[in-house]
Amino acid sequence: MLSLGVPVEVHASLSATEKQNSSVQTNSASIEDLKEHALTLYKKGDYELAISTFLTISKRLEEQTSEDVLSVLGRTYTYIAQSYKRLKQREATAAFYRKALATYKRIDSKRNIARTLNTLAEAERYLNNLDTALNLVMESLRIHGTIDDEEGKAKAHMGAAIILRYIENYELSLEHLKLAYAYFKREKNAVGTAKTANEIAHLYVRLASFEEAKSFYEVALKYPTDLLPPATIATALRELAQIEVIAENYQKARDYANRAMAIYDTQNAPEKKTAVFRIIGDAYKGEGNLKQAVHNYQTSLNIANQLDNDLFKVKALLPLSDAYLQQDLAESERTFKKALTYSEGLQNKTYRLAALKGLRELYSATGQFQAALAFAEKELTLSEQIQSENSEKLLEKAKAKLLSFKLENEVEALKEQTRLDELEITRKNNEIELSRKEQQIANLQLSKERYAKIMLSLIIIVLVTVALALYRSYIVSRRKNEELHYLATHDSLTECYNRRYLFDALKNLFSQLPSSKATCLVMIDIDHFKKINDDFGHNRGDDALRSVAHVLRKNISDDDVLARFGGEEFCMVLRNTSLANALSLSERVRTQMESHTFGEIKLTCSIGVTSLTLGASSPTELIEQADKALFFSKANGRNQVNAYTSS
Ligand code: GH3
Ligand code: MG
Ligand code: MG
Repeated sequence: MLSLGVPVEVHASLSATEKQNSSVQTNSASIEDLKEHALTLYKKGDYELAISTFLTISKRLEEQTSEDVLSVLGRTYTYIAQSYKRLKQREATAAFYRKALATYKRIDSKRNIARTLNTLAEAERYLNNLDTALNLVMESLRIHGTIDDEEGKAKAHMGAAIILRYIENYELSLEHLKLAYAYFKREKNAVGTAKTANEIAHLYVRLASFEEAKSFYEVALKYPTDLLPPATIATALRELAQIEVIAENYQKARDYANRAMAIYDTQNAPEKKTAVFRIIGDAYKGEGNLKQAVHNYQTSLNIANQLDNDLFKVKALLPLSDAYLQQDLAESERTFKKALTYSEGLQNKTYRLAALKGLRELYSATGQFQAALAFAEKELTLSEQIQSENSEKLLEKAKAKLLSFKLENEVEALKEQTRLDELEITRKNNEIELSRKEQQIANLQLSKERYAKIMLSLIIIVLVTVALALYRSYIVSRRKNEELHYLATHDSLTECYNRRYLFDALKNLFSQLPSSKATCLVMIDIDHFKKINDDFGHNRGDDALRSVAHVLRKNISDDDVLARFGGEEFCMVLRNTSLANALSLSERVRTQMESHTFGEIKLTCSIGVTSLTLGASSPTELIEQADKALFFSKANGRNQVNAYTSS
């Protein structure tokens, strides 16, 4: 990895003028000695002692206000911050960069302010304060636009690029890398060029543009090796090896890996070697050479054990268990379990997830379904946990990303100032745009899933409401239909069936012949009803009609039909009734009418009876028969019952 934001000439000793200036105003001998001493400690890598010595210096300088002393004080704070950075004490690093910044601001030293803003931005990025980091680096670039410090500006572009890469604004990140890369190439600065090329390549790996990534990692390999830090070359080799594994060029991958390994051997970098052994293991595994794969993963694990680093242990154990899967199940199980144990303490939960998955697959492949199920459940719980943590992180990133887009215009302005050369990245912008879109889609997908749950509940509520409304309107319309049907088949005054219903019922009976033969039709007409109306009024007449209907209804069964045929005429259809029975029922009705008192009204009625057995061939004919019988009753003196005869 490229170390960015190296403070102002950290490896150079204080300039002669500074030595003079500070010695003028301080206890000259001791301050000078302290400085020499602190720098020696720093260069030796004894950062803790260096810090305490630099702190002693800063205590002395803090009391003074002259511009020269403040400049040295700022430089001293920077060294302290830099030492804390080497010790990976992030909070302290940021705190001392802030002190340095405040000091440089007091003397308005633009160049130092701009550079310190960039290093502070890096420190804030390590603390995951992404918007702060972005604001700081942009401020740095703004100041760099007004002063002549091309190198500092290039470093600020690098800083911005890394922050932007971190918040996944790859397009803008690449813009900044372009600017830095162009600067280093122009300056024929081999180290800067190679490191920036590695960064660009790293970005392309993120975008899965492996060909582009390869061509940029190869930049470092083209320089004479003595021009570059070995670590920069080794990074390029190691990453190229990784890419060749992905491309399934296993021999090539091993060649690169071995070259990287040779460098790491001379550099005493065991933690890097664990990674390279893993890559070599992957290459052998890709070729199906499990023995060699296991051997290399095992070597990686041995180094991790020596380092006592759980992360590296897990990283080696996982592919190792996977390789054992195909040869030694018991060993595979044992290794996966180890990986699981070591992964427990790791911050990155995905390793633990991989171990759980490995065990679940192993158990289900060997038919131990109960155990497989148990691990599947753990896997599920953990992946849900990871997902919820990820969405929080994404939110943080999305916030910073928004800010980065806001600041994009300012970058545009900066871009104008620098002429770009050599780099043909522009034509790659489309690819990046595509990848960025995919990334955005993936992000959107994530938030969509979150909203899907809410939407689902809303949809269910809406559906239930609609269903209820539909059901209600169905009930209402059914009731309306029932009402309409009632009105269409009944007489509103007496609530008997109406004439239309009577005809329908008769038609029905005729269609069921001969089984419906035992049916009689009785026609009843109130005698001298006109007179009743005349004597008692129409309303009382209506009451009498309702009462007559009531008397009639009492005499028939549920199967029978009582209908109001016309004004004061009623019909009864009697099912399963012989003519003789119909006649006796009619006679009973006649006597009941005669004896009944309708209020103070007395009345009689005349009745005509016929049967389906008497030869009628249609409802009309049947009614005519009953009507004829009724006419005979009227003509014969009223208040009597007669059956139809053909004569
Ligand atoms: P009869 O049948 O004995 O020959 O004499 P009637 O007076 O009953 O005969 P008609 O058929 O001439 O008269 C029937 C009367 O019934 C005529 C009409 O005023 C009366 N009427 C018809 N419908 C209604 C009604 O809905 N309410 C009332 N109050 N009277 C009605
Ligand atoms: Mg009449
Ligand atoms: Mg009448």
